[in-house]
Order: sequence, then structure tokens, then C-alpha cells
Amino acid sequence: MNGWMSGRQDNGANFGDDELRMIPRWAMIGAVLVFATMQWVFHYVMPHHKHEVLALRLMMSYTWGALWASYVLLIGYVSRDTQRRGMSPALWMLVCMILPGGIGAVVYFLLRQPELSRCPHCASSIASSYNFCPQCQFQTAPVCGICHRGVRITDVFCTQCGHDLASDGAPSRLRVYSDGD
Ligand SMILES: [Zn+2]
Ligand SMILES: [Zn+2]
Repeated sequence: MNGWMSGRQDNGANFGDDELRMIPRWAMIGAVLVFATMQWVFHYVMPHHKHEVLALRLMMSYTWGALWASYVLLIGYVSRDTQRRGMSPALWMLVCMILPGGIGAVVYFLLRQPELSRCPHCASSIASSYNFCPQCQFQTAPVCGICHRGVRITDVFCTQCGHDLASDGAPSRLRVYSDGD
């Protein structure tokens, strides 16, 4: 019954276990390969100088390897994250790859749509910002009984119209709770 609550809280940059599971296997393998390639490039392909410090070269190869590996992981994450938000995976993976220096990823995280979830009543796709299901009118979040804008469950008065929320019956304010129990 707390589906709508968790849906909203997930919206922040919360990289928990669930978020890590969003990275597909091909991206994990790709990241390891990219990291290994960078080690190879730094230690065998690039010319060695006479008086160079080995620690510095190790540090450089490690840093660049980690950087490019996380880039691959990021694109893998975007490929899945777009799908649960109803956005185009191909378009956004391209944006992340083309815009340099991680700017594409920043643009993505700024512009991404809220996650879609399922209506508990009719199972159609609903955004976490909806208060009612557009298909069956099922209430997914607490709202004011007068203006029907979203309210927090702890609010005593509506922040938009000043309505006394305590006078609302279960349907408008608390239906989301009573229905789940
Ligand atoms: Zn519905
Ligand atoms: Zn109101």
C-alpha cells in the first residue's frame, strides 16, 4: 500500500541496491574490458620515458581506467532507467555518449521523467506525480477534498486553498491508506 510513497522517494539521486541492479550485464562486462584496456594502453602502448616514476604511471592508468569504466556503467544504467520512465533509451544513450565530459549524463538526470508505476486497481502505467489514475480514477496519493491538489498526509490545512483537511472523509484524504489495509 505504500507504493506511491516509495515511488516518490525513489525520485531523488538515491543509489541503493535497487539502483545498482539497474546496470545490465553487458555494461558490467564492458566496464571491466575498458578498465583492462586502459591498463594495457598505459603500460604497453604508450612509450616509457627514461626517468619516469612507476607510481605515477600506475595512478594515471588506474584513474583513466576507472573513469572510462564508470562511463560505460553509466550508459548501461541510462539504457534501463529510461525504460522504466517511458523515455527513449536509444536517444538518451546517444546523448550521454556524444556530449563530452559527462555533460550528457547531467542533462539526462536533470530532464528525466518521473518513474512510471502500475495502478493498483487497473494496472495501467501511471507517473508517480499523479494523484489519481487517469484510466480508473483510483486515488494514488492524498489530496485536498475541495481543490483536489496533492497534500502531505501530515498537513492539517491544504496549502493551496486553506481547506481544513481534518473535515475530509476517508475518500479524499486517507483513501490511499484505508484501501490498502
Ligand atoms: Zn487505474
Ligand atoms: Zn485545497
